[in-house]
Amino acid sequence: MNIGPIAIPPAGERAAGTFTFAGDAGLAKYEWPYVAIAGLMAGPTVVITAGIHAAEYTGIEAAIRSGRTTSPDSVRGTILILPLLNRPGFYERSIYVNPEDGDNLNRLFPGKADGTWGERFAHRLLTEIITKCDYSIDLHAGDLIEDLVPFVSYRETLDAALDARIQGMANAYGARWAVKTAPTGERPGTLMAVAAQNGVAAMVAESGGRGQLIEEDVARHVTGVTNILRTIGAISGRPARVVPPTIVKSFEWLRSPVEGIFHSHVRVNQMVKARDLLGDMTDLLGEPIAALTAPVSGVVLFIVTSPAIKKGGLLLAIGAL
Ligand SMILES: [Zn+2]
Repeated sequence: MNIGPIAIPPAGERAAGTFTFAGDAGLAKYEWPYVAIAGLMAGPTVVITAGIHAAEYTGIEAAIRSGRTTSPDSVRGTILILPLLNRPGFYERSIYVNPEDGDNLNRLFPGKADGTWGERFAHRLLTEIITKCDYSIDLHAGDLIEDLVPFVSYRETLDAALDARIQGMANAYGARWAVKTAPTGERPGTLMAVAAQNGVAAMVAESGGRGQLIEEDVARHVTGVTNILRTIGAISGRPARVVPPTIVKSFEWLRSPVEGIFHSHVRVNQMVKARDLLGDMTDLLGEPIAALTAPVSGVVLFIVTSPAIKKGGLLLAIGAL
């Protein structure tokens, strides 16, 4: 059996190696790592992805670790792990984007067969691999210049049965916070959003950041993924009971009105009230040029840790409560 370009091993076995997207010279310059684990018993097909943002290392490391430690004896169905989607960006330490075309790969789905590098990659990943699976778990972290508090994210589809499966996954991860978006919500081109629109039970989990491979952040992802796999019946063992996350009312991204140096006055996971002072911007001589206030009350979910901010640049996000 194959899932797109990846040969799935016989039941009870694990295969690891690399694959490429043949017939497209731009894509086929690269080889992507994968692990495929085929269970002895029947069950769902699950794809676990990471590194669509190439410097979100805890997700990448957790996917690699899950691939090495999940025993075929425990698997029901098939688990496919793609630990580094943004292969061009990894050794470049790319922040947010893919160096082949400068676009954020997680905004380009469903992609285009004859588009830019990122659009073609998105099209082939989606049509050949993701939509052949029943479940999709996409692991992220704060980017190289972001700190965050762990949270899960998912999108409603208006298909009640699919939404229940998605929520069951998100609840099993063990995060304190969840961002749930409407079917017509912002950032429609994410892998998670388009996978869900195509009938795949899809979610994102965020843990870690700042380019650091902190063990606690990696372990949180591995534990969360394992508990999701148990919950959906993809591996044996009873899932741990975890407290479901609090779903925030909206996910408010704050951007800078000016170019300058960002001084944050808050930390991730801090509660803030609407109109609280969150930080300020100064120019390159230290003159204050903008005060940054909270648009809503809620919890700070991520903060950009680099002080060098362009006009319109992202600063932080609040989950409204
Ligand atoms: Zn990300």
